[in-house]
Amino acid sequence: MLMITCTVTGNRELASLDAVRSIANHPDSIAVTVTCPACGQEHVHRTGRRLDEARRARAVEVAVRRAVELTSA
Ligand SMILES: [Zn+2]
Repeated sequence: MLMITCTVTGNRELASLDAVRSIANHPDSIAVTVTCPACGQEHVHRTGRRLDEARRARAVEVAVRRAVELTSA
């Protein structure tokens, strides 16, 4: 299963692996084309280690900033 964001409804949709149409490798991510279970159109979902790392780094940054704000308040 794959979590994608429908560009039509803006909702997060759970797509099965059967819905995957193609996969393209990019230097910074993997583009997965998926048939959307909500609207039936094809959406490109980007995934991959570097993208996940960047997301995680951003989440850690936010958490650290929040902790600093809490201790300085
Ligand atoms: Zn859709």
